[in-house]
Amino acid sequence: MNRKRILLFATKLGYQTRSFQAAADKLGVELVYVTDRCSHLDDPWNDQALPVHFELPEGAAGAVLERQRGVPVDGVLAVGDRPTGAAAYVARGLGLPHNHPASVEACRSKLRMREVLRDAGMPVPWFRAVTLDPIPEPALLGIHYPCVLKPISLSASQGVVRANNREEFLAGAARVKRLLDSPEVRATREPHRDQMLVEGYLEGREVAVEGLLTEGTQRVLAIFDKPDPLEGPYFEETIYVTPSRLDVAEQSAVEQSFAGAVRALGLTHGPVHAEFRLNEQGVWPIEVAARPIGGLCARALRFIAPGEEEMIGLEELLLRHELRLPGSDAPRETAASGVMMIPVPRSGILEKVEGEEDARATPGITSLEITARLHDFIAAWPEGSSYLGFLFARASEPVAVEHALRAAHSKLRFTLSPRLPVEHPLSRQR
Ligand code: ADP
Repeated sequence: MNRKRILLFATKLGYQTRSFQAAADKLGVELVYVTDRCSHLDDPWNDQALPVHFELPEGAAGAVLERQRGVPVDGVLAVGDRPTGAAAYVARGLGLPHNHPASVEACRSKLRMREVLRDAGMPVPWFRAVTLDPIPEPALLGIHYPCVLKPISLSASQGVVRANNREEFLAGAARVKRLLDSPEVRATREPHRDQMLVEGYLEGREVAVEGLLTEGTQRVLAIFDKPDPLEGPYFEETIYVTPSRLDVAEQSAVEQSFAGAVRALGLTHGPVHAEFRLNEQGVWPIEVAARPIGGLCARALRFIAPGEEEMIGLEELLLRHELRLPGSDAPRETAASGVMMIPVPRSGILEKVEGEEDARATPGITSLEITARLHDFIAAWPEGSSYLGFLFARASEPVAVEHALRAAHSKLRFTLSPRLPVEHPLSRQR
């Protein structure tokens, strides 16, 4: 039997890899995990995952190619930002269609991405790389306000802070520095931990685009509106709803900006998740990532493959696409759909969650998953990077999806208590 085999690069084996596994089982495809959870033990999780260090993408790729020598591989996919570099090098080594490693690395550095987009003539805010040790006087750097401070290679809006004046700039920079110096971030061995990117704050509405590239051809799978005002000072995500309520001309401008940014970065094959802001000056790419939408959010997308009764999820669509199986051109369902990434109101230990049943019973709500663990510490943004959970809704109209998500969220109560007696190093200033 010629069972197809896909290498799946992931930093942790969680919800998204489980969805990939379910889709792979359905299609009869073998998934081989490549992960950096731990490289000291042989097979600590008993899933035959190949252990690598994602912060050294070429070295990681070399190790994977060595381990897979002689084993046929039919496709390479990455989930999350960190593994994308190693995945690109491996695909290149195997001669599989994929993004060039340099393109993927440009997406991994917020500074490099701004340079590439600027050089391609795309609209970008002013930006500067700023050292954090010592934190410089902003007036000497020609910083204007409002501006946004951000770590160069973290994701999920972790460490992204708006500053409206010098005091906020200095406090924000100190906070970014503390985050980058924290043991959790140091453990990732991400580069650029001594700098941050500072750029002009862009007013406007924000949308996310989920795209899929096939050897240079682009397809927009969905445009998600983000109906909450994302004005800072911190930028945790909340609601995503598709289809977008932007008018036809605005949606077409977003698609053009997506196409321009993808071309500028040289991305050619596989999933792309991108964020844009729209204002009277046009559409501004905020960021472009060479990976699918993260975590459980992919569940908000379902596709209808012609002639098939069961809808397929994003993970299955991506596996089919990678293997050039029929159905990867399936359109999204016609219903409106959305997800709320449940915000963390303040850092603390999650003691209690109430109202789950009521929230689930809200008309339009299709599921609720509380992903934070009881009695664990959870950090609010900007230090945080994981949500309390996810609410999903479907309805005939996007406005009804948004209402359902807000109504269900209002029924949930989270009790968070300060972490005592040992204080979390990142919450010292609160
Ligand atoms: P990450 O990759 O960590 O998510 P981003 O650069 O995408 O970092 O920033 C996260 C969020 O912060 C964006 O989705 C947006 O809401 C906000 N943001 C980032 N840069 C700007 C900016 N220049 N102007 C306004 N908002 C911004």
